[in-house]
Order: sequence, then C-alpha cells, then structure tokens
Amino acid sequence: MSVPARETMRRGWCPGTLRPMATGDGLLVRLHPPRNVLTPDQFAQVAELASRHGNGQIEISGRGNLQLRGIREEAHPALVDDLLEAGLVDEAEGDGPNRLVLTSPLAGRAADELLDAAALAEAVERAGRAIAGLPAKLSIVVDGGGALALDGFAADLRLLAVAAGTLAIGLPGELWFGPVAPEEVPVLTAQLLDSFVAASRRSPDHIRRMRYLDPAELTALAASSGLVPMTAPAARPGPVSVGLVAERDNRVAVLAGLPFGRTDADGLHRLGARARDAGVREIRLSPWRGLAFCGLPADVASILCDTLRSKGLVVELDDPRLSVSACAGAPACARGEVPALVDATVLADTLAPLLTGGLSLHVSGCAKSCAHTGSADLTLVGRDGRYDVILSGAAGDAAIAHLSLGELVRRLEPGQDIRARLDAAHTG
Ligand code: SF4
Repeated sequence: MSVPARETMRRGWCPGTLRPMATGDGLLVRLHPPRNVLTPDQFAQVAELASRHGNGQIEISGRGNLQLRGIREEAHPALVDDLLEAGLVDEAEGDGPNRLVLTSPLAGRAADELLDAAALAEAVERAGRAIAGLPAKLSIVVDGGGALALDGFAADLRLLAVAAGTLAIGLPGELWFGPVAPEEVPVLTAQLLDSFVAASRRSPDHIRRMRYLDPAELTALAASSGLVPMTAPAARPGPVSVGLVAERDNRVAVLAGLPFGRTDADGLHRLGARARDAGVREIRLSPWRGLAFCGLPADVASILCDTLRSKGLVVELDDPRLSVSACAGAPACARGEVPALVDATVLADTLAPLLTGGLSLHVSGCAKSCAHTGSADLTLVGRDGRYDVILSGAAGDAAIAHLSLGELVRRLEPGQDIRARLDAAHTG
C-alpha cells in the first residue's frame, strides 16, 4: 500500500492513522486494526511503538478507537511504516474518511446477537466507502440487537437487528424505517448515503451530518430508497459494557474498561502479557473505552476478570470511573497544568455515590479539553496548578471558582456548597 501524503489536520477533524491530528501534546494517531481485532503480540508491538515514536500515552476513545498520543511530527512516517508492517492498519482506510461503522466489541461473537453484526458491519463499511464525497465524521451504528446495546452512541444511520434476520433502519430524530432483511442493508445504506451526499451538495452550507436535515428531508431521503416508516423498536436496558459476557460456542469474553479510557505503553504491554498467559487469541477494542478479551472458557474468563479487577481495570457496572472522563494531564502531557489523571482518581472516589447515580465529571489538564469536548455536570479545567470549576457546562464556559484539588475535595464533601449545587441539579 502506498502511504498518502501526510497531512496534519486541524483540531475537530477526524484523525486517522495516515492523517494524524495535532493536539496539545504532539500528534494524535488513531488506529483501526483490521476487523477491530488485535492479538496479544500486536498489543506488545503497539506499546513499543507508542513509546518509541511518542510519549507512550495510549487511549481508547468513546468510539472504540485506539489512539497513540504525543507522536513526534518527524516520527510519524516511521510509525506508519511500522504499523503497516505489523498488520495494524486497516488498508481500506486509505486517505478517505475514517471508519464509518461502529459495532459492539463482540459483534459476530455474542451469544445473544440476532444476526452476525460483524459480517454486516464489514459489508456496510465497504458499501459506504464506495460513496464519493462522504463527510469524514459521518457515523453508522450496526447493532446486533443483543445486551451490548449501542443506543447511547450518536449515529447518522442506525442499523438495528429487531428479530432474527430482520433489521430496522434509524435516522436522526428517532425516525425508523423497515423492516429490512440483512442482505438488503448494504445496498440500502449506499443509496441513503448517496442521497445524503447529493442533499449536502445542494444545501448552501454543505451540511456534514444527517442530523442537520429536518424530519421531512430525512423521510424523503428514506422514501427515495423505497423505505417505509415503522414503529420505533422497543427501548432496551442499558448495555452490559463491562464484566463477563456469553459468546457463542460456550465461550465467554471479559469486557474491561481502562480507567478513564487510558493507559500507557507499560500498561498496554502488561495487558497483552496477561491476555497471552490466559490463552486469549483475540482482543477487541470497545467503544466503552475498554477492551474485550474474547473466546475463553468460563473458568478462565472468571480468573482473568478477577486479575484485571485487582490491577485496577473497570469490570463492574457500578464503578464510578465509568462516569468520568479525564486526559493524561501533567506530567505525561507537556501542556498539562495539573495532574488530571491522578486527580480524577481522587475525585471519582470523592464523588462515587453521585457518579454511580449518573452524574458526569470531566477533568482536563488544560483548556484544550482533549478528552471531552461536550458538557458535563461538573467540568474541571486545569489552570496554574488549580482547577476552574464549571457546573453543567464545558471547558470554556464560565467558571464559578478556581480551586486546588484539596479545596475542591473539601467543597465536594456532603453538605458543602459545590456538592449541594451538584446534588440539587442531580435530583432536580
Ligand atoms: S487537555 Fe490534557 S492532554 Fe490535552 S493538551 Fe491539555 S493537558 Fe494535554
């Protein structure tokens, strides 16, 4: 494969492996391993490359992308060569848009899937990539209909299995069409995307996401592909995003979240070694900012799950860290004005009852807010060794206080002012 000319992209664009994005701590290189599968040995390779070419900080994004941080500009071509040689680049990625399709980490493996979501996702990805002019951030969710529900992930197009061999097609605004058979889906997807690109070209501001179309336009888009409206599928419980999950053929997977979606080269290396020792041959990236260790006998999976818990990974659904986003902060990131990752652990403990009840917390090492661009119930932004405190907002919104970690913890204790305001907002 020839590597397209490298292009460092502006913040807000999608970084890919071949086209990294400049961030506060160097280039961010996003990795989409083919079929979303890595072996334990490939884990070790990624760990080695992350420290050789960058600052060794590794994260898994909220869309299940493996991201290497702090890559030195001059090292990027060598990193790409090394990743290609290791078979870690999805060569279909080319220099087109990033991966379109999001699936569950157990697509094609989960015991309760209503169809083979992995095979369908690959067919949809191929069909989508054939459409010229697709916006880079366009996103399609392929959901096999099992307990690993992807309802919480934003998508322009949602392909949801609602019964064995039957799917519903969802467009933004809870507009549902179908039912359709799996074999019809790739062609229908291509038609919908093609119509969207044409609509985007016609619009004066060249809209980039389907959600910017109004319901009448979306319904017309679906009708042009012969789709008819249907009742919205029944609501499902939240996903079992961490812990033990049954696979086909009496196998079990361990889903483990990385604390705040982050680790470093040493941590990744150790995880690969533990997986290899347990007999794991397939590790998948999870959009719940973690990993799926697949294909284990039940007893081995249970032991691995206990080991990962003891090493600080998230394997319980009520772990407060699942409600916290944080960047690496100082000292790993040169731009960091506070040790965001260390402080996030303290704050997750302080706020555990509220976090397990649904409160969201974002801890950022500086105003760039790399780890989360949206709003959170409590956003803390590092500045001069302390935190700007923002309630119900994003980094950049007005702060109500500028506090050290110690002051913050005291004022987050039950009965204190900030805690009282969070309690009130949360129960109100
Ligand atoms: S937000 Fe965090 S990772 Fe991003 S530049 Fe600032 S300190 Fe570094």
